[in-house]
Amino acid sequence: MKSNVLIAAVIAVSSINAMAQPAGFDYRVDRFADIEVMRYYVPGFDKLSLQQKTYIYYLTEAALQGRDILTDQNGKYNLTVRQLIERIYTTYNGNREDKDFKALEVYLKQIWFGNGIHHHYSTDKFTPAFSQKFFSKQFDRLTDQQMPDGYQNKKQRAELKKLMQRILFEPSFMAKRVNQADGEDLILTSANNMYEGVTQNEVENYYSRLRNPNDPTPVMWGLNCRVAKIDGKVVEQPYVADGLYGKAISKIVFYLGKAKEYAENDGQRAYIDKLIEFYRTGSLRAFDEYSILWAEETKGDVDFINGFIEVYGDPLGMTGSWEGMVNFRNGDASHRTAVISGNAEYFERNSPVDDRFKKDEVKGVSAKVITAAILAGDSYPSTPIGINLPNSNWIRAQHGSKSVTLENITDAYDGAAAGNGFNEEFAYSSAEVEMMRRNLTLADKLHTDLHECLGHASGKLLPGVDKNALKAYASTLEEGRADLFALYYLADPKLVELGVISDPDTYKAEYYKYIMNGLMTQLTRIEPGKDIEESHMRNRKFISEWCYEHGKADNVIELVKRDGKTYVKINDYEKLRGLFAQLLAEVQRIKSTGDYEAGRQLVENYGVKVDPAIHAEVLERYARLNIAPYKGFVNPVYEAVRDNNGNITDVKVSYGEDYIHQMLRYSRDYSPLTVNR
Ligand code: ZN
Repeated sequence: MKSNVLIAAVIAVSSINAMAQPAGFDYRVDRFADIEVMRYYVPGFDKLSLQQKTYIYYLTEAALQGRDILTDQNGKYNLTVRQLIERIYTTYNGNREDKDFKALEVYLKQIWFGNGIHHHYSTDKFTPAFSQKFFSKQFDRLTDQQMPDGYQNKKQRAELKKLMQRILFEPSFMAKRVNQADGEDLILTSANNMYEGVTQNEVENYYSRLRNPNDPTPVMWGLNCRVAKIDGKVVEQPYVADGLYGKAISKIVFYLGKAKEYAENDGQRAYIDKLIEFYRTGSLRAFDEYSILWAEETKGDVDFINGFIEVYGDPLGMTGSWEGMVNFRNGDASHRTAVISGNAEYFERNSPVDDRFKKDEVKGVSAKVITAAILAGDSYPSTPIGINLPNSNWIRAQHGSKSVTLENITDAYDGAAAGNGFNEEFAYSSAEVEMMRRNLTLADKLHTDLHECLGHASGKLLPGVDKNALKAYASTLEEGRADLFALYYLADPKLVELGVISDPDTYKAEYYKYIMNGLMTQLTRIEPGKDIEESHMRNRKFISEWCYEHGKADNVIELVKRDGKTYVKINDYEKLRGLFAQLLAEVQRIKSTGDYEAGRQLVENYGVKVDPAIHAEVLERYARLNIAPYKGFVNPVYEAVRDNNGNITDVKVSYGEDYIHQMLRYSRDYSPLTVNR
């Protein structure tokens, strides 16, 4: 599972405090269509030992070798389209300011970002803005040698030209990568390349014969294969070293083998061996064994993901999209979460909820904070900010899971948001802007720590209460409960005493942002005329709206009109904390007693309906800022320094590469499934 960044991407607010990047580090790389590309800094890399750096270096090589796998999983013509458009782009010698050429460049940037011809998030096919005439002329200009693999004679060229006409200019052809529309054949109507020539029915029948409902430790069927019909028979085409994607997988295996020589401990060596076995044999049992070894290895600093992991790219949720990521422990930040978790008992005892609803003994969940060193496959360029793996339910239950937060990625979001004008537009005055600039990065992180490590883990149900009593409102109320717990404790002097913050007013930045977001700015993500549906958005709305209403008598929160614009003004932060406490007690009561009706009313009365006038105003103000709704990253460049015998003596990291150069370099140097010409 991954936690996405959409929320942070929209509301991220800048702060310079507590960030580890060097002064002047420029986060912004490129901006096109609905995308902003950024770079991230890798703090602490230089302090790692040579062995760790070398380990990371080979793991990054193993990660980068998988890029083509994901691109091909996403659509069977994707590699062909990428090759063709890159060739047109790199050999073009006309006017580079020409409107059609500019449009071709945007299209190329989009297909790199989507790892194929579909949008990474909506999964809709991209619509190029260049003309058919321009494309046709550019296509004809290429020599046979410059044509993509498999299309280099006259007949094949003609075929490809026809196919490209459909891909580029026929909207209904391969329209959606992952179709989830209820009632349709999800396999036939999805343009991904995880299935070929089979219907949904055939796939479901095939796997229902393999599945044993009584197996307590089931493998994840279909995780690592394409399903196709060959000679009238449904067959699996496994992704293995001597099968589908074998050329890429062999390279991955090679670099994993190199990496293993520099691993930090036996646990890591054991799971690398298992992963290699999985890549060589395709055995799903081997993958489970790998996942267990991986989940249980928590001593090393360096860690990685490399394999077929998340299943969002398959409408049936079985096939894993190839993904890679290499990271190492962020010692300082992990210390912060450890301190918070270690004091879980204090937080539970002193919370404002009724003692009957408190846990008798509480254990905080310890989450690791990491620094990403490379992003690849399904995590590149668009990346999650949190990951919790493995995905297999029985392994999670019996062997645990690893939950990580990618702090340097979060920092990059904040850094890139600095100066995008968002706070200046929406905050009441420069005092609030300055307060958020100074304290919000740390306050945001602490809010997340308290929410994840303590909030969800706190409280208990009264005996006999049905844990499903809150039904459709359960997740909104649960997220609200965790948020309220975090908000309440952010202002607790205990945090200063524990040394996790030094400025006792840090919490005010979070309070201001939270209320501004809940009452106003999160509406940027809602279409005009629609209500709020998503549970995290509902919980922020009901908390903010409830506090606004209940603080009215004391004028705790004010909505001020100035020059036709609405602003949130907080007049009394201490009283606001009191309101959070009151609401936390109530939401905990609702949960502990299973009071469905009270929960329903809270959410429906405060969390769903949108004031159309405020909504229209927010959308209009936001649109003028021209902030990209989706963001992603280029990677740093790692360079191995070698002595005369070829031994690595150091690994250097640099950040200067831009988006186009990185993508073209990856297509040249890390493209085992295409032929380099
Ligand atoms: Zn949560």
